[in-house]
Amino acid sequence: MTTRDDLFLPLFNRYPVTFTRGEGVWLYDADGKAYLDFMAGIAVNLLGHAHPALVEAISEQASKVLHTTNLFWTEPVVAAAEAIVSHLPGGRVFFCNSGTEANEAAIKFVRKHAWRMGETERREIVAVEGSFHGRTLGSLSLTIQPKKWEGFAPLPGDVVPVAFDDVDALDAAVSDRTAAVFIEPIQGESGIRPMSDAFVDAVRKLTSERGALFVADEVQTGMGRTGSWWGFEHYGVTPDVVTLAKGLAGGVPMGALWAADAFANAFQPSDHATTQGGNPLACAACAAVFATLEKENLVANAKVVGGELRGALEGFGYEVRGRGLLLAVELGREVSSAVVRSALAHGLIVNDVNPTSVRFAPPLIVTADDAHEAAARFHAAVKDVA
Ligand code: PLP
Repeated sequence: MTTRDDLFLPLFNRYPVTFTRGEGVWLYDADGKAYLDFMAGIAVNLLGHAHPALVEAISEQASKVLHTTNLFWTEPVVAAAEAIVSHLPGGRVFFCNSGTEANEAAIKFVRKHAWRMGETERREIVAVEGSFHGRTLGSLSLTIQPKKWEGFAPLPGDVVPVAFDDVDALDAAVSDRTAAVFIEPIQGESGIRPMSDAFVDAVRKLTSERGALFVADEVQTGMGRTGSWWGFEHYGVTPDVVTLAKGLAGGVPMGALWAADAFANAFQPSDHATTQGGNPLACAACAAVFATLEKENLVANAKVVGGELRGALEGFGYEVRGRGLLLAVELGREVSSAVVRSALAHGLIVNDVNPTSVRFAPPLIVTADDAHEAAARFHAAVKDVA
């Protein structure tokens, strides 16, 4: 007999849970069981589930126009672009549909910038071990996790890996052949690993001195998740290029490439495109996400409730990494997958970001009570596994 698994390429091991609806920080399965959602679709649902402002924006836009292409203007595409440039230092944007596409666009952008400057040998991209920038071939080549490369060779070349937080290695890697250095201020997929101040400072300093661009991948750390609008703000630096996705439209697929004004002419018509990027539905959702984060003061909430969550987890004796509402508990042994399954049984959704750590990335609407409840359920789940 054919099962529902047989419908899909065997890429995902889905948990035996079917969600039918959500409200706020809660998800409900087909049997009506409630789960505290501290994963938010892998750091996506910033406003939780079925937030009235987002539902209204999407419903209204769906009843007007869903798609027109980038050959025409729509009101939402302008509103989304205005929201982004007013929360970053000016600059310009390009819209796409995911984080991997945003980084793919950024790779082309930094090379085209060097090419326009007449520096045709400046093609190398420096990336950091443990990074995750996506799964398309270009973004995968910057994802310095060799296991993820297996069977996909050849990947695009001219990528120079450097060890995590190794300022000397960075110094040796950035040269007059470097088009850009890509970093995640907090590496997400390899386990919520914040970079040191010294390393991020060095990225800014060395790229500026040596004529390369500084690209911050804020796909996971952006949009207020770490308790400030952007992960790079914690380091007191400003990158030249920023990539965004995940929470950008609160759960509607959307990505963006942002470039500072000084470099914004690198792309000219026909250099890059995507049919559905900037579609009115995603852009209306994006504008509503920015407006709601502001109106409900949710970036500050991420900082405060993130502190509560960290404190509650540390209170149970766990080692915690990360900032704001992007945290990981280090369990010290390879049990994270079992703990996540056990947490599901306790009505808590978290994610095994690596074999020994569990990620907490809840919606930014969570309250201190939610954080304490999640920590208690997590502790119960860990005890069951032990
Ligand atoms: N960059 C970072 C930092 C990410 O965490 C991810 C996804 O986890 C990506 C890029 C890829 O984004 P997407 O899955 O939307 O393609």
